[in-house]
Amino acid sequence: MQDNDDFIPFFDLSRQGAEHISEWMNEIERIVRSGKFQSGPEVPGFEKAFAEWLGAADVVGCASGTDALEVALRAWQIGPGDEVIVPANTWVSDAEAVLFTGATPVFADVLDETGQLDPAGLEPLITEKTRVIIAVHMYGSVCDLGSIMQIARRHNILVLEDCAHAIGLKTQWGMAGTLADAAVFSFYPTKNLGAFGDAGCIASADSRFIDRVRLIRDHGQPVKDTHLIVGKTSRMDEIQAAILFKKLLYVDQWNARRRDIAMSYATTIESIQGIQMGFDLNQNAVVHLFILRTSERDEFIQFMKKRGIGTAVHYPLPIPITPAFQSGNYRGVWSVAERRAKTIVSLPVFPELTDGEIGRINDALVAFGQK
Ligand SMILES: *Cc1c(COP(=O)(O)O)cnc(C)c1O
Repeated sequence: MQDNDDFIPFFDLSRQGAEHISEWMNEIERIVRSGKFQSGPEVPGFEKAFAEWLGAADVVGCASGTDALEVALRAWQIGPGDEVIVPANTWVSDAEAVLFTGATPVFADVLDETGQLDPAGLEPLITEKTRVIIAVHMYGSVCDLGSIMQIARRHNILVLEDCAHAIGLKTQWGMAGTLADAAVFSFYPTKNLGAFGDAGCIASADSRFIDRVRLIRDHGQPVKDTHLIVGKTSRMDEIQAAILFKKLLYVDQWNARRRDIAMSYATTIESIQGIQMGFDLNQNAVVHLFILRTSERDEFIQFMKKRGIGTAVHYPLPIPITPAFQSGNYRGVWSVAERRAKTIVSLPVFPELTDGEIGRINDALVAFGQK
C-alpha cells in the first residue's frame, strides 16, 4: 500500500494552477483593476476567439453549461407540451434543462460498448410532440451524429449537440459543436477547457437563433432597460472569459496529453482478463473521461484505492432512475444504460499526471488482472 503523499487523485486542478499561476493571476488583476465584471470587452473577445478556434459562425457565452442547454431550448421556444429526447446515461443537466423549459424529457438507450446514444432506439420514441434530440458526445468521443441527423431531418426535429465532454473533438464531419442545429459547451472547472467557476456557451450558424439566445441570457434586453422577452441572468463573467481566453491556447496540447495517457492504459488493458474498454478511443478522441468496464467493478475500485489510485463512476445511475426523476415516470428505454452503469469505472486522465503516476496506474491494472 502507498502512503497518502503518493495518492494519485482522480483529478487535481491545483497542478495546472501552480504551473500557470502568474499567467492566471495577471488576468484576474487586469479585470479587478478594470472594475468591469459583467458586460465588458472580455466576453465578446472570448466568444470571437472560441468561434474561430471551433470554426463556428457564432458563439454566445453563458453562465454555465446547464444554462446554455436551457437557453438554447428556450430560444427554440421549446416549452410545455413538447418532448425532447435525451440519452439515459448522460450528466443530469441534459434532462434538467428540458424540465426548466416546461417540456418533457424522453430517455433513449445507449450502445453497450461505447455508451453513445443508440440511433436505432430513436425512431420508436419519436411522436408528434418531439421537437429536439440532444446528442451528447460522451466522454470526448463522437456519437453517431450522421444517423441521428438523418432521423431528425426525416421527422423535422432539431438536433442540439452537447459538447461538454468534447471540447476540441475533431470528427469525420468537422469539429464537434459545428455539426447540428446548435451546440452547447460547459466550461465547468473539470472540463477539458475549464473556467475558475461556472461558465458555458452556445454555438450556432443560425443568426436568428443566436439573436434570441443573446436576448434570453441577459433579461431579454437588446439595450439596457428594454425588455423584449422574458429572459434570465445567464451571462458569462468577465473574469471567466479572460481566463478561458488564455486557457484556449493550451487546450489542443492538453487534449493530446489526455489521448497519450489513454492510449497507454488501452495498450495495457488489451492483454488483461476481466477488464474491457468502456468507450470508443479513436485517434481524435479528446478523452474527457477514460471509461473501462469490469464485472467486478466495486472490487476494482477498492483494489485501486489500496494502491493509492483515485477512480470515479460516470455515471452511477441512468437519469430516469435517479431519485429526482423516478417519480416523473418519464417515457423511454434504458435497459442497456442500466446494465452498463453497473460495470463502468473511470481512471484518472488529467493532463498533469506524471509519467511515473501513469506507470503506477498501468502496473495496478496488470496486478488486478493477475489477482
Ligand atoms: C458538465 C456537463 C454539462 C453542463 O454542466 P455545467 O456544470 O452546468 O457547466 C452538460 N452536459 C454534460 C454531458 C456535462 O458533462
